[in-house]
Amino acid sequence: MNNPKLTSPTEVMRLLKKYNFKCQRRWGQNFLIDQNVLQIIVDSLKLSKEECILEIGTGIGTLTSALSSLTKQVISIEKDKKLVPILKESLSPYNNIEIIFKDVMNYDLVNFFKENSIKGRKVEKVVGNLPYYISLPLIRKFFELNKYLKLAVFLVQKEVGERLIAKAGSKEYSILSIITQYYSRPEKIHLVPYTVFYPQPKVSSMIIRLNIYEKPPINVGDEKLFLNIIKASFQQRRKRLINSLSNYFKGNINKLEIEDVLQKIDINKNRRGETLTLEEFAKLSNQLTK
Ligand code: SAH
Repeated sequence: MNNPKLTSPTEVMRLLKKYNFKCQRRWGQNFLIDQNVLQIIVDSLKLSKEECILEIGTGIGTLTSALSSLTKQVISIEKDKKLVPILKESLSPYNNIEIIFKDVMNYDLVNFFKENSIKGRKVEKVVGNLPYYISLPLIRKFFELNKYLKLAVFLVQKEVGERLIAKAGSKEYSILSIITQYYSRPEKIHLVPYTVFYPQPKVSSMIIRLNIYEKPPINVGDEKLFLNIIKASFQQRRKRLINSLSNYFKGNINKLEIEDVLQKIDINKNRRGETLTLEEFAKLSNQLTK
């Protein structure tokens, strides 16, 4: 299994001290020290020995080592080179772990997946205890890789998790919810208190599983228009749909035409944009394309 010592707070503190490593809060360096939570993350990935897995944020190698015995190859991306000496020690018993010391936000992931598939390596799952400051842009980045990915399991800040799974009309419903539900079927796996990390962050987290669709089940024709309409509808949350849309299309489509479109697809023009479901946004953008 994993290097069980790595979930022991004494061992984590020993390693950090030995190599004089100072955790950077701004890079989300909060390391998991709970065997139970680790097991939940690993189980939710449903791994097999034939596949490889991509991990974001190696840290001191806790999750990395747990993935090792369950897969053919673990590829882990870590920004902080100062972790090298610790990882040399903590991951020394494993021979199927590759660490890429790069900033994942500037790393060419498209090329990464292409090259792996040429090599015949099956990398269809990604996992990570995501640093908060990159969690949103990173999740969006992975949706654009839906051609390659089947499953993503992320540990994110609880509020972010709530937004990913939020339903239309709820307080947490946002552009991110719609994009998430367009590309995937999101599932809440587990709530995680901040006490399972060392050092402790200030907020709770959530384990989220995104079952990524091979092809989004909802047809939106012009994807760019679809996304722009969503943005326009959410920009001024309290505005009525008809006003947000006519503002957005100012000069191109007049208010009366938009009213006509809304009537045709049976959406009340007085509704607020943030109450529309994914299906309704799709209908709206398809009708406007016409
Ligand atoms: N998986 C480990 C570590 C999680 S902490 C565990 O669960 O214990 C998050 C890790 O992400 C840190 O090691 C941090 O250095 C790394 N990280 C932060 N920003 C990153 C970035 N832009 N690219 C790659 N790794 C990053």
